[in-house]
Amino acid sequence: RRMHAAAQAAALQEQMTARYPRLQEIRREMAATAGQVTRAVISGGDVEAAVEEIKRKNLALQAEMAEILAKAGVKSPDFEPQYVCPQCRDTGYAGGKMCRCMEALLKEEACRRLSRMSSLKLTDFALNEAKTLGRNRCYIFDGETYRKFLRKREITQELREAVLNGCQGFAAFYQPVFAEDKKVPYGAEALMRFTSEKLGIISPAEFIPILEETGLIIPAGRWMMREAMGKCSEIRKVLPGFRVSINISQVQASKSDVIQDISAEMKRAGLSLEALIVELTESDLLEQNINEKHFLTELKRMGISLALDDFGTGYSNFHYLSELKPEIIKIDRSFTVKAVADEQEYYLLNQFCTMIHNLDLRICIEGVENEQEWAMIRKLYPEFTQGYFWGKPCEYE
Ligand code: C2E
Ligand code: CA
Ligand code: CA
Repeated sequence: RRMHAAAQAAALQEQMTARYPRLQEIRREMAATAGQVTRAVISGGDVEAAVEEIKRKNLALQAEMAEILAKAGVKSPDFEPQYVCPQCRDTGYAGGKMCRCMEALLKEEACRRLSRMSSLKLTDFALNEAKTLGRNRCYIFDGETYRKFLRKREITQELREAVLNGCQGFAAFYQPVFAEDKKVPYGAEALMRFTSEKLGIISPAEFIPILEETGLIIPAGRWMMREAMGKCSEIRKVLPGFRVSINISQVQASKSDVIQDISAEMKRAGLSLEALIVELTESDLLEQNINEKHFLTELKRMGISLALDDFGTGYSNFHYLSELKPEIIKIDRSFTVKAVADEQEYYLLNQFCTMIHNLDLRICIEGVENEQEWAMIRKLYPEFTQGYFWGKPCEYE
């Protein structure tokens, strides 16, 4: 609905600016005032006076804009959706008014006599954010976003350095997957870990998206394959049927030759094809491009098993299942958590499992944490289960 409202506002803006060219100028002038305070901060000028000046100018511009809109019979919020500052809840139109916390921040920065370097950095950041909002927009500085931006930049640097140093700092952890009989693990899922000397342990939820965004997942993923396949080969000497699951991200499937990498690493580890399970998430499969289609057909042709990860979190398309025929459907932990706590969700999960079984596919339920949960989950007859109840991810030992 928000997108629809934005589209409507954009269309209205276009119509109105065609009729009243002055509106376009007003918005430009409003956007331009934003830089004034930053300039005052950088030059060591009077920030308070600059803030006052902007407020005065913006009020005048807003009044002029309101007058034009009133004449045309348009309400200002229709013309430009209101911006609400996530911190101080102050509202303003995207093109103009400065929120209270921005004012407070600028005054505080001025008091701390912000160094030229750091104010340039802030300006640079704010300018970039404004650009990502679209043309002719004003970004209202928000300290939290800036801190997140800094952390992400730091992690990115650490990851880059680690990859350049032969993936130093990366580790492969393994979480057991049990089949119905529960006596010996059927296999294990390999999960990536990263510890930086500077920042300590970083959670996969934080570093995996960065690896994907930067493409570093391609070399890091190759390293994971080598690790996981090597260890699997060792375990198979004791447990011959043991299988290892590796997670492949969409970036790897679409931007690198994963099939070539998998074949090379399997050969190197002396691993047979049935020992490997490739996990792909459902959402990744929804956006298949040519390379990914090629990847999937090649996997099938080679006889490598596919597990569909995170099922039950997205669209959960059953057409796909019958078409793609993955060997295993992995029910996401978030679904399991809901199902063990809520009768209706449990009913839904039960229906899902029946449908998957009717398609002759096998199920792995993730996130079983204790005895009670297991008592409920086992009634759904999953072929495999994985969760803290059976074992947390741990190092190979
Ligand atoms: P995923 O593939 O869905 O992996 C399962 C996640 O659930 C793992 O989180 C695992 O530690 C966690 N888990 C399993 N059982 C339980 C349980 O009973 N309770 C709780 N609270 N959690 C449980 P982890 O290791 O943090 O990994 C998060 C995600 O990062 C993975 O989700 C996967 O999408 C991604 N990931 C991890 N390693 C790799 C990798 O090597 N390559 C790629 N592309 N992605 C990876
Ligand atoms: Ca997985
Ligand atoms: Ca999963």
